Amino acid sequence: MLPENYKLFYRDLLTFIPDTRLITDPLRTLVYGTDASFYRLIPKIVIKADSEDEVSRILQTADRHNIAITFRAAGTSLSGQAVTDSVLVICGGNWNKYKILDNGGRIRLQPGIIGGHANRYLAPFGKKLGPDPASINAAMIGGIAANNASGMCCGVAQNSYQTIHGMRILFHDGTLLDTTDRKSCERFKKTHRALVDDIEQLGETVRANTELAARIRQKFKIKNTTGYSLNALVDFKDPIDIILHLMIGSEGSLGFASEITYNTVVEHPNKASSLMIFPDIANACRAASILKKGPVDAAEIMDRASLRSVEDKEGMPGYLKEFSQKTTALLVETRAHAHDELLRNIDTVKQSLADIPMELPIEFTDKVDEYTRLWNIRKGLFPAVGAVREIGTTVIIEDVAFPIERLADATLDLRDLMTEYRYHEAIIFGHAREGNLHFVFTQDFATQKEVERYRRFMDDVCEMVVEKYDGSLKAEHGTGRNMAPFVKMEWGAEAYAMMQQIKSILDPKNLLNPGVVINPNPNVHVENLKPLPRTSAIVDRCTECGFCESFCPSRELTLTPRQRIVAQREMSRLKATRENPQRLAEFEKNYDYLGEQTCAVDGMCAVGCPIDINTGEHTKEVRGRKVQRPIFQWMANLIANNFERVAAVARLGLNIADQTHHVLGPDILEQMTSRFKSIGKGWLPCWNRYMPKGAGPIKAPNPHSGDGLLKVVYFPSCITRTMGPARGDPDDESLTAVCQR
Ligand SMILES: Cc1cc2nc3c(=O)[nH]c(=O)nc-3n(C[C@H](O)[C@H](O)[C@H](O)COP(=O)(O)OP(=O)(O)OC[C@H]3O[C@@H](n4cnc5c(N)ncnc54)[C@H](O)[C@@H]3O)c2cc1C
Repeated sequence: MLPENYKLFYRDLLTFIPDTRLITDPLRTLVYGTDASFYRLIPKIVIKADSEDEVSRILQTADRHNIAITFRAAGTSLSGQAVTDSVLVICGGNWNKYKILDNGGRIRLQPGIIGGHANRYLAPFGKKLGPDPASINAAMIGGIAANNASGMCCGVAQNSYQTIHGMRILFHDGTLLDTTDRKSCERFKKTHRALVDDIEQLGETVRANTELAARIRQKFKIKNTTGYSLNALVDFKDPIDIILHLMIGSEGSLGFASEITYNTVVEHPNKASSLMIFPDIANACRAASILKKGPVDAAEIMDRASLRSVEDKEGMPGYLKEFSQKTTALLVETRAHAHDELLRNIDTVKQSLADIPMELPIEFTDKVDEYTRLWNIRKGLFPAVGAVREIGTTVIIEDVAFPIERLADATLDLRDLMTEYRYHEAIIFGHAREGNLHFVFTQDFATQKEVERYRRFMDDVCEMVVEKYDGSLKAEHGTGRNMAPFVKMEWGAEAYAMMQQIKSILDPKNLLNPGVVINPNPNVHVENLKPLPRTSAIVDRCTECGFCESFCPSRELTLTPRQRIVAQREMSRLKATRENPQRLAEFEKNYDYLGEQTCAVDGMCAVGCPIDINTGEHTKEVRGRKVQRPIFQWMANLIANNFERVAAVARLGLNIADQTHHVLGPDILEQMTSRFKSIGKGWLPCWNRYMPKGAGPIKAPNPHSGDGLLKVVYFPSCITRTMGPARGDPDDESLTAVCQR
């Protein structure tokens, strides 16, 4: 039941959004509300927004009813910035238009485009986006910009803050500003004079305060996503430029980005990588700081525990097991436009590290399969911890940065703290050139004692990072709820007050993602923790990262694999606790179509999953439980054992329907079958004009082409064996026929 002001808000939304895109049922608000963080807030309303105009009207309506709004792109955030208990506005997959400008020099993107797809569009121009989070094949442009996400290569020189060219911004009152359009800027300056003056004034105040300005510059020399991008106030004088750059890293708490134009960076075609093994952390960090000045694009540090977590995996070099307790590795990549330049880079790197002790001589490889194998070591680290954790525990990935010259001491201090708090499984790795470390550990949030352990550990980590090293508490994952209580500690009272002012100038009613970045609650980082109850051995290790979502064919129709798992977990929790039988019954009823019937069980989700979970297998398990009655078992066996004939009958049925379509036309047939459906109480299928014809019969293909070589092994699914193209499809050959050509 919605509270009164939400009911009014909903009623007003209905005047411009169809109710099919307004979600309030318990199952879907829970699963759409979930992101990759370990926080759980369930939105009251989820809106699937379709256009800039619609978001503008949503903002105006929310402003009128004092309703808080949180935006969502791919929901891969880790710090609790993409969850809400108010209204979630999803601007994902259908926000996918883009335009390449200046022969690849710039790209204009809607916020629902996946970062990796944008790079695919840019590849023919030898260009790519600057920001390169490890999640780039799942994260979307809106989230990448709003988190100022970054990764192995981009450092502080090529992140969104540095490479943003322009943005279309919707403010809290629904007003649009296009920073690339002079007229729009002039208009905005007139209509929002007070806001623009306040921002200008804030910039002048900060720049006049030379000590604060110097501190801000200093802090952004290393990666930093704690709090707002205060560097906008010192780097720019024009208020529009300041607003544009404040939007980067603002986590949807200052406005909505409906379109983003990036300046692109060069994607060098020649690459070589080397796994360098050092006797200890100190030497690895010394090497990293030398490499920072050299022709190196990435230098990933991995401590001994990291290497140990993947040394038994298939394809890992055997020598990984042989090193001592303190061994530390750097995975280094250099890139170049031409091959001879690449060789010169390798030479320079080797010479620059000649005085650093190593366990093995430096070897670079420019062979794709060899360097891919090396990078798989690095990419396997987070999943390795996730995969071995106890069921019910969360895998946490933290993200801090230190001045590079102090990285070695900081890494050792971090390891000591983990030992003190008994996080023995923890591993440390990260972007060494940037002084950016990730530490991954598992945490049980089921008991207060464990929550306390986490709280005390994080208190000590924050104190160490800030007091001892003057580092960043969040280097690239954003502040969210997770680091909000520590923003003032890191930045000091004066800078924090500036951030509060930024928030109140741009969001005076505190309706845009309230509670993230700025939050007066000192406990917000240990409240609303997500339960991860046991549900099925097939999916229990899921970390809800969301990397599966873009691979799922039913993502725009019903649920994604992550959402199916979230629903299953909730149903298991409700069964175990018996706390709300009505909610359980409703979940079970709705899951039938949303989760089970519409899962294609094609296993595509496992392609994106870092721990190879195939949610389709789980759906088969769920279906299996339903058909345990002997009659169903008998029918299933009958179909399976006579599939050839069953497929032939299905093809015949589809062809008869298609011929009837041809004779009667689509309207009559649709009306007729929908009447049959209602008479048959849902047992008779309803035909629609997009129904396929039957596929052609399958002929045993000749696996050898003319040259005698085995070209391809094709496993047609039952769907492609029965269904061909629909009448009127531009390509009217069935998939099986194409594959047999
Ligand atoms: C396994 C794993 C690895 C990761 N590795 C990295 C990494 O290497 N580097 C890194 O930086 N991050 C990393 N992340 C975190 C996360 O993937 C990134 O921060 C990513 O950019 C978030 O994008 P998203 O599309 O999922 O955004 P979401 O999570 O949907 O949203 C992120 C924030 O942006 C806001 N937002 C979304 N769209 C808009 C919009 N159009 N306008 C205004 N605000 C908007 C949301 O309200 C939210 O506050 C990782 C996450 C996982 C699970």
